[in-house]
Amino acid sequence: MKFLANSLKSICSAFGVHTWDQAYELLCGNRHTLSIQQHRGELLLNRIFFFASTFAVLTPAWVLVDWLIFPWPLWVELAVLRFFAGAVFLAIAWQTRRDASLMRARLLLIALLFLPYMFYFVADSMLSGYELSGIQSATADIYRLLPFVIIAGLSLFPLTLIEFGFYALPLLALTLYSVFAVTAVEFNGAISTVWLFLLILGVSLISSLNQLRYMISLTSQASYDVLTGALTRRAGIEAMELQFRLARIRGENISLAFFDLDHFKSLNDSHGHQAGDMALRKTGDRIRETLRKIDTVIRWGGEEFILIFPGADCIEARVVLGRLMQAGLGKRPDGSPLTASIGVAELRKDKIRHWKELLALADSRMYRAKDAGRACCLDSHEDELRWDWCADTVNETG
Ligand code: GH3
Ligand code: MG
Ligand code: MG
Repeated sequence: MKFLANSLKSICSAFGVHTWDQAYELLCGNRHTLSIQQHRGELLLNRIFFFASTFAVLTPAWVLVDWLIFPWPLWVELAVLRFFAGAVFLAIAWQTRRDASLMRARLLLIALLFLPYMFYFVADSMLSGYELSGIQSATADIYRLLPFVIIAGLSLFPLTLIEFGFYALPLLALTLYSVFAVTAVEFNGAISTVWLFLLILGVSLISSLNQLRYMISLTSQASYDVLTGALTRRAGIEAMELQFRLARIRGENISLAFFDLDHFKSLNDSHGHQAGDMALRKTGDRIRETLRKIDTVIRWGGEEFILIFPGADCIEARVVLGRLMQAGLGKRPDGSPLTASIGVAELRKDKIRHWKELLALADSRMYRAKDAGRACCLDSHEDELRWDWCADTVNETG
């Protein structure tokens, strides 16, 4: 039993899987962050573009070989098929250049995988209508390798286990059908063909999952700030652009808070950089604990954070920020509370058209909050929410 558990552990480690969460991320994409979904969508589309455009050129180009080797009118039949397939590959390549979404990538991958399969079936039925020998039959055999090329091609895409099954199982069924029902191959030959197919399928699966695992860990490492656990500025810009675009498409509101710790330099100067780091870590923890699941926190720089509230107006954002003020960011080493000045802006009431405008407006309100004596929050309604009022509520209730 222990041997089995250890073996399973080693297999998981080989895939870079050490926790249930990591295993779940390889199983399906439900819990992938927006940035992973976006990067995977872009990567899949780029690879689909590469293969589709390569096949769009090579498939019709092979007409020359068919013309040299096959008799009339077989090579003409194959040429018509090849030009048709080339045109469809071109259409697939063109479709990848439109908006980069994961769903588009998944649909185009279906087309990219099944088009060569259909090509194989039609070409095979054309070839089997002729008595071929010598070099002709050797060339015809190249056509029969297509299913293996397709299944090996799957290894080049970072897919989850469920996605891989979704693409591979119909291809396996088609191969079994073609080997046992269509092609008159003797039983032993059929078994070795299927065995080879399964072997390539297994290797492709391992490669595909490994790519996904490394893609997730690289994206996560590059996306999160180690000190505060917030998104880094670069990943935060991507998240802001995406959330803003989604809000516009769905006709929803979105709010953004610019958050700057007060007199942080003096904390560093009087108690040292390490005390400053501890305060930043605690701030990150408190923000993440208080925000809703759908909200995002970004470390914009030094002691500045950006909080994104999808679907929320300023008033809803204020409720969350009020909760954060109540919970507090902890104390400075001298015992006084650590506070921040916050500026909030929202898409609707502030009539914003670009995420950069939303950011600039929240930033300018944060500066006004500094001028208003710090430790407060200013939003589109010009209402002030002061840190000590919320803290007082805690003292009164506590
Ligand atoms: P204000 O209330 O006007 O915002 O004053 P402030 O002192 O917070 O503003 P200022 O921008 O002058 O200072 C920010 C300080 O944050 C300066 C820098 O030493 C500190 N800081 C930035 N990044 C880090 C970090 O990673 N760790 C620590 N310990 N300090 C940092
Ligand atoms: Mg600052
Ligand atoms: Mg500051």
